[in-house]
Amino acid sequence: MKKKENTNRLFLLLLLFSLTLTSVFAGCKKKDMTPKLNNPHNIHGVANFSRTFGDRNQKQMEIAQAIGISPIASRQKAEKMATQLTHIEENEHYSVDSLTHSIPYLIPGAARLLDTIGQNFLDSLAAKGLNPNKIIVTSVLRTENDVKRLRRHNYNAVPLSTHSYGTTFDISWKRFDKVEDPDGRPMEDVRSDTLKLVLAEVLRDLRQAEKCYVKYEIRQACFHITTRQN
Ligand SMILES: [Zn+2]
Repeated sequence: MKKKENTNRLFLLLLLFSLTLTSVFAGCKKKDMTPKLNNPHNIHGVANFSRTFGDRNQKQMEIAQAIGISPIASRQKAEKMATQLTHIEENEHYSVDSLTHSIPYLIPGAARLLDTIGQNFLDSLAAKGLNPNKIIVTSVLRTENDVKRLRRHNYNAVPLSTHSYGTTFDISWKRFDKVEDPDGRPMEDVRSDTLKLVLAEVLRDLRQAEKCYVKYEIRQACFHITTRQN
């Protein structure tokens, strides 16, 4: 009698053990932890960056002055303009650089445009078989204090700029923010010149749809973008 009881107990233990093992392995099977490689296709870019994105300062200034805010002196002022300016911060669509000569505020139309660019860029990468990367915003609204400090560094490089009107932001074409897999699956890098081509396609389409003006800046390694909608 005793022996039979022990056998039953052993059987139950074994059953429990095998059930545990099965569920552990089933759990592992769901997560593919092999490196996620790129499978690039349909990447065309644009034929000539400077020619495709040649919207000059004067043209951008006209719309900036028409739909933007009046230039402001300081960050304190921007913080009090909640209805006219949207505070922008890193989200799932874009990253914001550590800003040294500007503050993270845009008029609502420009903030929406920035979000659209970031989202379209991620969608395009997925459609073209490339691992996700976020755009990086490198310059946003410049106060008069920022402009003064910039002028001290390099007088000639700072003409009257659309960055003073909250309509304009810069996006790097050289640096991107790689999105890591939340479960730790290794993701193959995407070369920055490939990412630049995809970003160029996104911007070309939005520009053609009359959503924005875009200037390709070589020295500053960015696209200088002004919204056409407030
Ligand atoms: Zn700029």
